[in-house]
Amino acid sequence: MVSTLRHVGGRAATAATDIPFLDLGRVHAGLKVELLDAFAGLIDSGEFTNGPEVARFEDEFARYCGLEHCVGVASGLDGLRLALLGLGVGAGDEVIVPALTFAATAEAVSQVGATPVFADVRDDDYGLDSRAAAAAITTRTRAIIPVHLYGQVADMRSLEDEAAGHGVALVEDACQAHGARRAGRGAGATGAAGVFSFYPGKNLGAMGDAGAVVTDDTELVATLRALREHGQRRKYEHELEGYTARLDTLQAKVLLLKLDHLDAWNGERAAAAAWYSTALAEVGDLQLPTVAAESEPAWHLYVVRTADPERLSHFLRERGIGSGRHYPQPLHLAPAYERLGYKAGAFPVSEAVAAQALSLPIFPGITQDEIARVADAIREYSDGG
Ligand SMILES: *Cc1c(COP(=O)(O)O)cnc(C)c1O
Repeated sequence: MVSTLRHVGGRAATAATDIPFLDLGRVHAGLKVELLDAFAGLIDSGEFTNGPEVARFEDEFARYCGLEHCVGVASGLDGLRLALLGLGVGAGDEVIVPALTFAATAEAVSQVGATPVFADVRDDDYGLDSRAAAAAITTRTRAIIPVHLYGQVADMRSLEDEAAGHGVALVEDACQAHGARRAGRGAGATGAAGVFSFYPGKNLGAMGDAGAVVTDDTELVATLRALREHGQRRKYEHELEGYTARLDTLQAKVLLLKLDHLDAWNGERAAAAAWYSTALAEVGDLQLPTVAAESEPAWHLYVVRTADPERLSHFLRERGIGSGRHYPQPLHLAPAYERLGYKAGAFPVSEAVAAQALSLPIFPGITQDEIARVADAIREYSDGG
């Protein structure tokens, strides 16, 4: 965080301290001594892979999610890919994914040899629309991957009914929803498997790439453990063809330290979201996030909709305020999936959100004063400032 003298609109202006989109420095500042201690211990032990902290983290994170098992992996994408493989999804199969999500959700499907089939999201919680998902089911559909977008758990009850009725598996992409709950259940606890990313910017972030799959299915766990380490069920016995997709001991140590703070951090995010929603009520054309009944989002992102998010983002940047776009391109219109032949107009809600979404600064430690300043700037923008 730097205090700068900056020119705004041609005038020299003394800018208050910048407000970044995400400030991980604030998250880690209080943990530095403990982290350095953990790293020193790792150097001494030399157990860089499969160290005891990996199993400890798996136990603690499984318990946190309210499930029996957790398998640590190297990224969220690895978690999704291995979960699909472990459930027997492969060539010739179709997997339904929302059109509005981070690319990894669809990448996992293609990378196990299956075809991603896109469906639209709901206009309120931005989760996969259960009726749209049901309409996309064919005889080849093997799984549905609802995404808990921006940290709000999708309507798993309806999705569960559709999936069960058609005999297809549900794999939850909970990569943005660590600790979120809806209708009494935690993110990742409803599907055959729940997948988390611990990319540094997530609510629970490692210091590099990491991920996990949570499940109550003991057989799936054994397959995932083999797949993450070259297909070995025992050393040098390659029953399956696998991957280098382990969770590093170093990341497990970081995650163990940070997991203790996750609920408090999510609480700070929820407070920040509430401040925004109060301060931004009835401002300009802004459409604020909606929270479904019985839903406690993890507030990974605070996303507003406005007619010209790029212009608002630029306006905020000129005032030292960061923002993000999640995501400016729905996946069915991304060049990477052009081969699937989708056209603009196929998924109106995903397309509208992609055109209108702007994510405002939110992270543990952001202050009410900072949020007031963001809100003031947005009000100034809306008043034609
Ligand atoms: C972050 C994320 C992932 C996985 O990302 P990795 O970088 O592979 O850990 C998957 N899906 C969604 C929705 C995400 O936000």
